[in-house]
Amino acid sequence: MSTKAKKIAIYGKGGIGKSTTTSNISAALAESGYKVMQFGCDPKSDSTNTLRDGEYIPSVLELMRENRKVDAHQAIFRGFGGTYCVEAGGPQPGVGCAGRGIIAAVQLLEQQDIFDELELDYVIFDVLGDVVCGGFAVPIREGIADHVFTVSSADFMAIYAANNLFKGIQSYSNTGGALLGGVIANSINTPFHRDILDDFVEKTKTRIMEYIPRSLTVTQSELQGKTTIEAAPDSEQAGIYRRLANRIAKHTQSTVPSPLSSSELRTWSASWATQLIENERAQQAPESVYAGVNDDN
Ligand code: ADP
Ligand code: MG
Repeated sequence: MSTKAKKIAIYGKGGIGKSTTTSNISAALAESGYKVMQFGCDPKSDSTNTLRDGEYIPSVLELMRENRKVDAHQAIFRGFGGTYCVEAGGPQPGVGCAGRGIIAAVQLLEQQDIFDELELDYVIFDVLGDVVCGGFAVPIREGIADHVFTVSSADFMAIYAANNLFKGIQSYSNTGGALLGGVIANSINTPFHRDILDDFVEKTKTRIMEYIPRSLTVTQSELQGKTTIEAAPDSEQAGIYRRLANRIAKHTQSTVPSPLSSSELRTWSASWATQLIENERAQQAPESVYAGVNDDN
């Protein structure tokens, strides 16, 4: 792959906001004048459509199945701000391994020197991370990515997926695997969402790259088939995506995370359950022990 391009992989549980966040990062970097490729690695092949007015593109694997010889240019489509959009695609359901698909797709572009030809500054891989099986770990393991980020909300299953990713990164870290840049906190609308994720990153010795609110602007943009950067460039949410993109662009020092063991994660989530219940009780209780006492006395 091009020696110049910075290669970033964004992981997270399905539906957590990877493609939305990744597309806004790509759009923000393109807007700043960088040459960006977004490489969707979800078998759903829906990573890049908000960069292309909601339009889906044929995936590399689809093209490889249909044609004996594929010119990599056939799989590359231009999107917002000149971004290059690629979807790796996946095997036919029930057959084959998604990881091998990612390798095949990356190899096709490498063999045809696409990364050098396009003189890319950033290649951003948008990777499904519900299970970090050997296949989905490919971008970490095979030197495809330089830095890994994960999108997580404060929901337990999202944190569970992030913690599993940390285990994957840790186990490949002594064989040259990509390390962790940080956590992109998504759908953060209350102080306790922030507190839960702050605590999780502290326990796992990682960091938060940005707190992204759940926002109607994102929904409105998606329904128009666009990123928020394109559909609502002056919105507060677009500003947050630009700040995140800038941090990721500048990021250089990734680290090995310290994932929690399964039992540590259970104990940790149980302690948060207790705390949230106590908080709720405190809010429902009379405001103070002096409630009802006349202030004038
Ligand atoms: P993933 O790629 O992780 O499967 P998506 O990026 O497709 O997830 O997001 C799933 C849904 O959540 C989409 O409809 C998207 O618009 C919505 N979404 C993600 N992040 C936000 C946000 N910050 N505010 C509002 N909606 C969001
Ligand atoms: Mg997605």
